[in-house]
Amino acid sequence: MRDSSNDLSRRNFLSGVVVLPALAGLVLTQTATAEAKGSQAQFKYQKTPSNGKKCSQCKFFVKGSSATANGSCTLVAGTISPNGWCIAYAKQSS
Ligand code: SF4
Repeated sequence: MRDSSNDLSRRNFLSGVVVLPALAGLVLTQTATAEAKGSQAQFKYQKTPSNGKKCSQCKFFVKGSSATANGSCTLVAGTISPNGWCIAYAKQSS
């Protein structure tokens, strides 16, 4: 007579062996995706303000060496002008 609890345990173990590496791969993929920036073209970045809105006022802007120096953006790749703008603009809270 077969012990069904052993079959169930082995089945659970085997499914875990298959699922865990798949989950690890998913987590790595999501981490890489979260760290990847979009291109300036994707975000329709421009080097000039739009309706008075500009990168230096955006919460995603990372300042350069001075207030007027180019900086970077946590969302958009490449050098970002403090006077630039893109479709992801979000005003800083303070
Ligand atoms: S999200 Fe857009 S508007 Fe904001 S800093 Fe980045 S490029 Fe500028």
